[in-house]
Amino acid sequence: MSAPHVQTPANGTPALDVARLREDFPVLHQQVNGKPLVYLDNAATAQKPAAVIEAISRYYREDNSNVHRGVHTLSERATAAYEGARETLREFLNAASTKEIIFTRGTTEAINLVAQAWGRANLGPGDEVLITHMEHHSNIVPWQLVCEQTGATLRVAPINARGEVEMDEFERLLGERTKLVAVGHVSNALGTINPVARMIELAHAHDALALVDGAQAMPHMAVDVRALGADFYALSGHKMFGPTGIGVLYGCEALLAAMPPWQGGGDMIKAVSFDGTVYSDLPYKFEAGTPHIAGAIGLAAAVDYLAGVGREAIAAYEADLLAYTEARLGEIEGLRLIGTAENKAAVASFVLDGVHAHDLGTIVDHHGVAIRAGHHCAMPVMEFFGVAATARASLAFYNTREEIDALVAALHEAREIFG
Ligand code: PLP
Repeated sequence: MSAPHVQTPANGTPALDVARLREDFPVLHQQVNGKPLVYLDNAATAQKPAAVIEAISRYYREDNSNVHRGVHTLSERATAAYEGARETLREFLNAASTKEIIFTRGTTEAINLVAQAWGRANLGPGDEVLITHMEHHSNIVPWQLVCEQTGATLRVAPINARGEVEMDEFERLLGERTKLVAVGHVSNALGTINPVARMIELAHAHDALALVDGAQAMPHMAVDVRALGADFYALSGHKMFGPTGIGVLYGCEALLAAMPPWQGGGDMIKAVSFDGTVYSDLPYKFEAGTPHIAGAIGLAAAVDYLAGVGREAIAAYEADLLAYTEARLGEIEGLRLIGTAENKAAVASFVLDGVHAHDLGTIVDHHGVAIRAGHHCAMPVMEFFGVAATARASLAFYNTREEIDALVAALHEAREIFG
């Protein structure tokens, strides 16, 4: 049986009942600058359904307590909810065990955890880490830091004019010195969906590990870490309709078990004395201090919500909306899309002749339309395309063609003002 907001027409492709889904998102129903809000900044952070807001609120109203350490009822309830959230994430990612699900602050912290805990212990002079030219700064800077600390070298696979990784070059850069490949699943600046399964396969063929930055993939597609073969997979709750300040590092159990802890403190230890400390088992070894309990519970609620909507239905709907968006943007004279990969998620980055991206952002905001303007934490991408910044409309399944029309009308006005 399909979910109530999914209609399956005769051709078999599930269609979303978007009007109904929008009712689940309280923030969408407001006016901004006298116009109905059109929220097209989902790649920066996505909106939260009432189910997520209520799960967090319920936890604070009814169960708030610290986890793991208490024997009283509230603490037991909080612990059950927190560990239940871990199981929800495990199932959603198809990880083999909850030992492989580490709660972090987000993708950034997950990548830094691997760079510092795994990298410091396993990298040295002569070793290489391979990334791509389209990475978000959070999948560049942690590797620069650990390369500086260990004497390893950072290599960068080039991209082409469509914003796709040059796979021949990627393969050529892999060698016996490569110890780890770290790639984004989906580029936040370009929308490119990278062939991560193939990249992981190539990394493994060279005895290198593979980390995937999944921040932008999770809201748009089903992710199965075992089918992908990823050694590490990082995600952020707030990009997938969950709260800010919570994310996950998935790591293969054998790798995590062999890694030293990163941060030290409460909860990550079994015994502490001045003669030495015995660390906790997985996953707690990597969760020092009081975790973001409400965040984990909210993230699990977001996962349940996403699963209920249906990831295939989301992907099909967004593919159609992206095609519509790009076609409508194409009508605007002087507009250039940045990122035209064959395989794209619902992100449209663009520049408009004679109008700075920030001015575009401000003008469309007067029409109630929220887009992002800037380098999108991907300065090397901007440099490659020879632009200082782009305007970016990033879509979610609750966006509509009418909203794209509102964006396009606002862009026409910007064109007139500056034209
Ligand atoms: N990776 C990608 C591709 C992103 O788009 C982002 C955020 O925009 C991040 C990593 C960092 O995510 P967070 O700030 O939630 O840690």
